[in-house]
Amino acid sequence: MAKEAPSSDSDNAPSRGTLEVLFLGTGASTGVPTIGCGCPVCLSPNPRNERTRSSILVRYEGRQILIDAAPDLRHQALRNKLKRIDAVIFTHPHADHILGIDELRIFNYLQKEEIPVFGDPETLRIIMGMFPYAFSEENRGGLTRPRLIPNKVIGHTLIFGLPVTPFLVKHGPVLNHALRMGNLVYLTDCNEVPAESMKYLAGVDTLVIGAVRYEPHASHFGIWQALEFIDRIKPRKAYLTHLSHGIDHAQLESELPPNVYASHDGLVISVF
Ligand SMILES: [Zn+2]
Ligand SMILES: [Zn+2]
Ligand SMILES: [Zn+2]
Repeated sequence: MAKEAPSSDSDNAPSRGTLEVLFLGTGASTGVPTIGCGCPVCLSPNPRNERTRSSILVRYEGRQILIDAAPDLRHQALRNKLKRIDAVIFTHPHADHILGIDELRIFNYLQKEEIPVFGDPETLRIIMGMFPYAFSEENRGGLTRPRLIPNKVIGHTLIFGLPVTPFLVKHGPVLNHALRMGNLVYLTDCNEVPAESMKYLAGVDTLVIGAVRYEPHASHFGIWQALEFIDRIKPRKAYLTHLSHGIDHAQLESELPPNVYASHDGLVISVF
């Protein structure tokens, strides 16, 4: 029988000091189902096999902080009834993590303010090159474009009171940033964690970790590698994300240790 991960109504604000995670998307870069594919997972009637591109919403002290802006952000916001995004943190500038930037425009409209975005200098340089109109000075009062304020993050920082520490991980030929946020670590798009980054995982309560398929991949952990890594870190709970159509939700859940779960779109968890 599939394990039931803890979940709550996504409209409920977490109590003070609690960190809550809403999984907006849990899919690999092509999403699941994948265009043109007739495999059993892409044709599956199980809604947990329908995965939009990976992104989470972190709720803390009444604020909602988006981690990555996936190409499916509009769909994710509608189905989760999102009305507010206080800030965005980008892990890296790959298309499946940034192409939802244009959808932030409607949140500027709803909130009647600019939205701060955070990332390492190189990620922000690439994003600002791709979406110059979202950062231009002339655009400050307009409604037709996103209005974003860039904030370069090098090390530990506070974002609306949420302690955030980005740390480097290997993602094939490029580097990516995992994020430690309180006792949560969001670590996706990674095939190796360098020794000097391991200290950021000490004592983590909840580890969200990316794995695209069962076998190792040049830029991502495979499921078995991710499980080995989880066993080294020993978090209270771990959630697998960034899953491709090579993975059936129910099958994967039946294969996981008791403290490890396959995430799915719409899942809400609390971090302690
Ligand atoms: Zn990705
Ligand atoms: Zn498929
Ligand atoms: Zn990537």
